[in-house]
Formats: sequence, C-alpha cells, structure tokens
Amino acid sequence: MHKKTLLELSQTLRKREISSVELTRYFLSRIERYDSQLNSFITITPELALQQAQLADDSYKAGTADLLTGIPLAHKDIFCTLGVKTSCGSKMLDNFIAPYNATVVEKCQAAGMVMLGKTNMDEFAMGSSNETSYYGAVKNPWDTAAVPGGSSGGSAAAVAAGIAPIATGTDTGGSIRQPAALCGLTGLKPTYGTVSRYGMIAFASSLDQGGPIAKTAEDAALLLNVMTGFDQRDSTSLDRPTEDYTAHLQRDIKGLKIGLPKEYFGEGLDHEVAKVLEAAIKELEQAGASLHEIHLPNTHLAVPVYYIIAPAECSSNLSRYDGVRFGYRCENPKDLIDMYKRSRGEAFGAEVKRRIMIGTYALSAGYYDAYYLKAQQLRRLISNDFQQAFQQVDVILGPTSPSVAFNLGEKANDPVTMYLSDIYTIATNLAGIPALSIPAGFVNQRPVGLQLLGNYFSEARLLNIAHQYQQRTDWHQQKPQGFA
Ligand code: GLN
Repeated sequence: MHKKTLLELSQTLRKREISSVELTRYFLSRIERYDSQLNSFITITPELALQQAQLADDSYKAGTADLLTGIPLAHKDIFCTLGVKTSCGSKMLDNFIAPYNATVVEKCQAAGMVMLGKTNMDEFAMGSSNETSYYGAVKNPWDTAAVPGGSSGGSAAAVAAGIAPIATGTDTGGSIRQPAALCGLTGLKPTYGTVSRYGMIAFASSLDQGGPIAKTAEDAALLLNVMTGFDQRDSTSLDRPTEDYTAHLQRDIKGLKIGLPKEYFGEGLDHEVAKVLEAAIKELEQAGASLHEIHLPNTHLAVPVYYIIAPAECSSNLSRYDGVRFGYRCENPKDLIDMYKRSRGEAFGAEVKRRIMIGTYALSAGYYDAYYLKAQQLRRLISNDFQQAFQQVDVILGPTSPSVAFNLGEKANDPVTMYLSDIYTIATNLAGIPALSIPAGFVNQRPVGLQLLGNYFSEARLLNIAHQYQQRTDWHQQKPQGFA
C-alpha cells in the first residue's frame, strides 16, 4: 500500500478493496513501526485520523466521495489544526493547541483526506537540515546518518519512508524543494499567492508559500489541486480561476525550450551532482526539448538579499510571541519587561534568535535604507533576471541543492555554510515564481534533485515536464532500504 501512488490508492478505495479505516490503520502502524528511527512526526493523531477515515468510508457508501477521499496525509506542523497541537518546531508553541484550521488543512479535510499527524520541522521553518527543531533532528530514510533537508524535513522523511502517502510543506527559501531533493521526492513551491497562507504560521510573509511533497509529479498535481484557490482570509491570495494541475501531464515535451543558467552550473556545485544532472538533461533532450544557455547575472545576490529580507520579516512576525496571549510564558515574571525577555529568551532556539537580531538590526532607524531598502531593490533585479530569461526559454533547469544530503552535525555550527546550501532555491522565492524538484539519480546512494523553474502560474507546465521525465525514468520509484 505504501508504494502506491495517490491514483492507485484512490482506485483501491473506490473498488472497496480496502476501506479508508483500514488504510489509515496501515499507515498508523507504519508510523509506529518506523518513526522512532526517523523522528519525522511531532504529533500523531490516530483517533482523529480514524474518525476522518470513518467519514470517508461513509461518503464512499453514499457515493459522494471525491478523488482523494479517504487517503491519509501528513501536515507540516506549521499549519494550524483545530484542537491539535501546532508547535512550528518550537518550544515557544509547545503548549499551543490551535483554535482553528489553516485554509490548507480545511481544504484537505473538505476533500475527504485523512490527517495522520503533524510533521517535524526546523524551528519556525528556519533551517536547511531539520536540526533546529525543538523536537530533535529528523533523519534521512536513505541514510539515517544524513539530514533529510529542511525545513520541511519531517514531511519529506515521512513520505520517503512510506509512512505517509503524501505531505504538505512550506517553502520560504527552498524548504519544500531541498528536502524533496535530499529524500528523493517531488516537491513543488507554487507561485506566491496561489496557496493560502491563512493559518500557516508566518516566517517571512512575502516569501512563504505552501505546497505538496510527494512521490511523483502526478501525486503533487493532485494535492496541489486541493491546496490552491482564492482565500479572502489571506490578503496576498490571488483571485484567479482554479486550475486542474493534472490536465497537461500527458502532453509531450517536444519543442520545449529549457534554459540552463551558467550561474547554476559553476563553482560550488558538487562534481558528481553535476554529472547526474547532465544525464537527466540528455534524457529531456531525447524527449524533444532543446537546450539554451542563459544568464541570471544577479544570482550571487540571492543569498545575501534573502538573509536581510527573511530575518527582517521574521523579526516582525515573531514579535507576537511575547508570553502574553499564547505560547510559552516564563515562570514568575518580575514585571512585564522581565516576562517578555525571559519568555522569548527561554523559548526561542539559537537560530531563531540569530534571525530576530539580524532582522531587527536591518530594520532599525538609520540602517533601514542601507539594508532592507537596498535588499528590496536588489530583489527587483533578481526578479528581472528571470523575466528576461523567460523571454528566451520556457523553463529553467538547475540543481536543487549544491550537494546530496550532508551528515547530521556537519554544518550545524556553521550558519553561513548552511545558508549557502540554499543558493539555487532562494531566488525563486524572492521573485515569487514557481519551481519544483524531482529525483534525477544518486551520488553515494543519496538522492540528487533536479530543479525546474517556470514563470508565474506555470505550475501545470512544470508538472507536465516532471511527469514526462518520470515516464522515462525510474528514479522516483526507488525506495530507501529498511522501510519495506
Ligand atoms: N533554509 C532557508 C532558511 O533557513 C529556507 C527555509 C524555508 O524555506 N523555510 O531560511
């Protein structure tokens, strides 16, 4: 069952070969059996899951079931879930039971999907390795000495090990695509504004976007169909007609123009990863695509610009955690200021504190123009690079991550090296364009991710290319050993 795609699971349910309650029990027992090796869940919700599964079975009986009804999924613990702990990977929210559902959660529930639980993540989604979580690091199913990537590392590890059929993630600078790459999965960050941020705990509001982490492009398209849509409760949600992201999966890719940015294949990219990508590029060429060298001249600015904008926005967003209304409060505060200081000092981890301090500094009077304003101007240049490129090519192809999964602890004490591991993913968030990562091979038995970037609203096209690639290759069907 855990090897089946969403469509296969859907057919199995529809034919009543299995009930949703049975399917849910199956995945719950896999979580019980394997998650102690991975630490991919913060909260498991068996009772709620079985209730939702029962409702799904009822709707099959009544003939009202949708395509994904009865299929279990896991939500990143950044999405608020009514009555269920929503920690965002932080001690700050360790006691927080969300009083409402995020729009994404609501939509999955309305589609009849069954929530297995909430997945582990870097604290407030700040990290690339899942090592900043208050609940401990997540391990990569391909090699438990390696990180699964971050910040949606719990979602990625759970799907890769087949303990959840699919999961949600969020991506502020790569947090869907990089863990998908490091765990051999398909992960998509949609165009900014496509997936509602209502109830998705804010990190950097102008960059954050939810999306699917899946085994295949087809699965990702199916969950994206459920996740997207205009939401009045999110002021940056885009009011446009909904799309069927599976509609173009079968199209061939003859005549597709793929841009290869010189800046994405130079220094810094692991040699072996580059070789794997070369083979994948050849495969796409054989499928009828043409290759074009392009330039994204401001690529080198993406990491520095992001590390002004994201901390600036997070310092503002995280000011709400003050010990007053919800979340952690220190013991016996002397006065209000003492409460603020100790509550925040005791409950935030080192990476979160580092970002709040950088962001507060960058936004302070006297420095605002030099840092934040400057970063916003450079952000425009980065965005313009993409617009120029999309006049010449349909999509851009590059690595997702400069290397395969690194070992736990390897970069944990070196924030700058850690930040550089997002060098290929960050620019898309700054520009707001969609991008996805698909598995393209292995280096030392660790998966390599290939990234495709498209212009605004090109998700269906990106998924089409990814699906066509997956029709011709079987990297996405490889499974880590030890989770049979
Ligand atoms: N790794 C990046 C960071 O630490 C991106 C995280 C994300 O996309 N949430 O900020």
